[in-house]
Amino acid sequence: MKYQLAIVGGGPAGYTAAEAAGKAGLSVVLFEKNSLGGVCLNEGCIPTKTLLYSAKVYDYAKHASKYAVTVPEASFDLAKIIARKQKVVRKLVLGIKAKLTAHQVTIVTGEATVVDKNTVKCGEEIYECDNLLLCTGSETFIPPIPGVEEVDYWTHRNALDNKELPASLVIVGGGVIGMEFASFFCSLGVKVTVIEMMDEILGGVDKELSALLRAEYAKKGIKFLLSTKVTGLSKGENGTVVAYENAEGAATVEAEKLLLSVGRRPVMKGFGLENLGLELTERKCIKVDEHLQSSVPGVYVCGDLNGVSLLAHTAVREAEVAVHHIIGKEDTMSYRAIPGIVYTNPEIASVGASEEALQKEGIPYQAVKLPMAFSGRFVAENEGMNGVCKVLVAEDGEVLGASMLGNPASELIVLAGIAIEDRKKVEDWKRYVFPHPTVGEIFREL
Ligand SMILES: Cc1cc2nc3c(=O)[nH]c(=O)nc-3n(C[C@H](O)[C@H](O)[C@H](O)COP(=O)(O)OP(=O)(O)OC[C@H]3O[C@@H](n4cnc5c(N)ncnc54)[C@H](O)[C@@H]3O)c2cc1C
Repeated sequence: MKYQLAIVGGGPAGYTAAEAAGKAGLSVVLFEKNSLGGVCLNEGCIPTKTLLYSAKVYDYAKHASKYAVTVPEASFDLAKIIARKQKVVRKLVLGIKAKLTAHQVTIVTGEATVVDKNTVKCGEEIYECDNLLLCTGSETFIPPIPGVEEVDYWTHRNALDNKELPASLVIVGGGVIGMEFASFFCSLGVKVTVIEMMDEILGGVDKELSALLRAEYAKKGIKFLLSTKVTGLSKGENGTVVAYENAEGAATVEAEKLLLSVGRRPVMKGFGLENLGLELTERKCIKVDEHLQSSVPGVYVCGDLNGVSLLAHTAVREAEVAVHHIIGKEDTMSYRAIPGIVYTNPEIASVGASEEALQKEGIPYQAVKLPMAFSGRFVAENEGMNGVCKVLVAEDGEVLGASMLGNPASELIVLAGIAIEDRKKVEDWKRYVFPHPTVGEIFREL
């Protein structure tokens, strides 16, 4: 069995590469040990957003009177919300399988082991390949907190499938995943506490916007403990006791459930990676060039495994670039404008350089801030909500970075992303006719 491309891992990186290479006429084999779609489709991007959408609909129903609509009594059925999530996942996984089959990709269900750069083993079978693409993704990092072995804790997987609402939940880690679950459970009435070691939630996101979002969720009832270190975990009478320390001293909080979401790490063990002798970076990640090729020619590493961005859309673009290099099509990877979204309600989206990064590099810029209320559509659809659009502009008008708090920031940030990637200036937005009324018109107001 000889293929022009062998792919280990069927997540966004793997299935995108398989489809692109199949379309280009290469013979492709894709190995997936669990379910096609990887973390993103089965336990990440899609399931979380499906649950969050149910929570959003429930929120709208509860607060319908803000829009002069009467809803007698809004309620929800968590088991049905989860069943719907599973239906959505199943549909999308089947869609991917159909696409790959249509492009003659051989899908092998099983755990693959890399023997050398031209050989992959799966079960008893040996597969030869001209090119090898590794995209085994990442896994949840469990912090070595004293007592962690003795208590029951949730990772995102349990939080996605738990059919009974806890009365209270402590989330350790106020990053994107932590905040999305905080938003979901808070909407459904769970008493949520978020413990974050840094001085603000959502590290990497514009601090001003993160603080505004935090204030919004504090109003909804989430308790935030910032600059707080978790020092121990133990079993309590009604759940788990979390001991912590901060500037005010040492204290504890008890909750029925505990969710650990302090980060994810590339999966670099257990599939024969060591047989390739790939060069690593200072951060101990696999070194890749602008074509996602590793130090061994013909071996490519895409998605979470290379540790660069840990986002599905980055994985997708990297996979396209790697396949283009294999088929000899000119293309290079750019990380200049990778959007980062927090799908809370309201959403936060950012892209390009942050203020912190520009200050560190000594690049002069102006931060232009506009209230989202400058958009008529935003005012019409967001009763009682404030939002901000912040654009970082170079001295010559070039757009360097943008952040947005307010719905639907996740859909609109691409307008800024395109401007940043193509080194456009603020005035360039004015040359385009934006549909009216839309929230995106805010970019023409700058
Ligand atoms: C709760 C949560 C929410 C998220 N939300 C978002 C979001 O909204 N937006 C976003 O951009 N990103 C989000 N992410 C991150 C996103 O899921 C990842 O960035 C993305 O899945 C990475 O894709 P990948 O192809 O690199 O790897 P993965 O999706 O992790 O896929 C890797 C695949 O490789 C398979 N595999 C591993 N080893 C082997 C082997 N030896 N043989 C065969 N198969 C193997 C695994 O089974 C897996 O299916 C979220 C993640 C989580 C956990």
